[in-house]
Amino acid sequence: MVNVNDLYNFAEFCNSIVLKIFTTKKSLDEYLSQSRASHKTIGFVPTLGALHHGHISLITQAQQYSDEVVCSIFVNPSQFNDPKDLEKYPRTIEADIELLEQVKCNVLFNPPVNEIYDDNEHWHLNIGDLESLLEGRSRPGHYQGVTQVVYKLFNIVKPDAAFFGQKDYQQFLIISKMVEQLNMPVKLVMCPIMREADGLAMSSRNIHLTADDHKHALILSKTINWVKDNFDNSRIPQLKKEAELMIGNEPGVELDYFEMADGDTLHPADQNTKNIVALVAAKVGKTRLIDNVVLVHGR
Ligand code: AMP
Repeated sequence: MVNVNDLYNFAEFCNSIVLKIFTTKKSLDEYLSQSRASHKTIGFVPTLGALHHGHISLITQAQQYSDEVVCSIFVNPSQFNDPKDLEKYPRTIEADIELLEQVKCNVLFNPPVNEIYDDNEHWHLNIGDLESLLEGRSRPGHYQGVTQVVYKLFNIVKPDAAFFGQKDYQQFLIISKMVEQLNMPVKLVMCPIMREADGLAMSSRNIHLTADDHKHALILSKTINWVKDNFDNSRIPQLKKEAELMIGNEPGVELDYFEMADGDTLHPADQNTKNIVALVAAKVGKTRLIDNVVLVHGR
């Protein structure tokens, strides 16, 4: 005879491992309200999809801190300043769902654009010069779009904690600033950069790299690691020049910027800077890649 309690336990077990997929704010909210009512903590991992092990590492971190993990997949149009880039952004939802099921993520939020945006919405957040430095300079309006969508997603999911990758270092600084400015009750966690065995930082955009591009792209991680190994705060300008040369000399690679920056403000670092990060962006073939490494933390 099957015991009713066993059945209940089994149902609860199944429920806890089946990925629940929501495409509307309302259905997600109804579900998460129940989780909150039963005092479950919610961890959130926002993504653009085309999931790889970098994304999965955030989910794994979130699982350690939260009872319920929500991953969102939303290719946010407002953060793409180049319509062609938006159009060719990889979309692999079936494989993404499979991966999320494999790692036992609880919830996927995968809304259509009109679920997130009304027509003619306007958004502007004062994030100071962080929005016009480095990535911001090369991608005007990008961080307004990022803050716009993350603000909306935080309001929909209402997570206790949200997990972001160090890979998008500037994005983390900007979201931290937004959360502080708007007093949003969410803890932000920065997770380490996941890399391929050869050092290339994992990225959804790596799908677009040819085998040759991939080989040339390794100059980015090689260079920032070389700078880390040879770091000397009295030689910042020389190291920057050397790094620019190393990347500039690599065939098929067009350097956008290499900067050794203050890890809090992203202004160029000098001898007295306490936290220093080396950040790089370059076009490899047709694909724009970014990477970074912390050189000095809290000297
Ligand atoms: P994306 O889908 O590119 O917007 O990325 C979603 C989140 O995953 C962001 O917080 C990224 O910083 C993070 N992420 C992307 N690539 C990596 C990586 N290689 N290692 C760790 N986190 C990553």
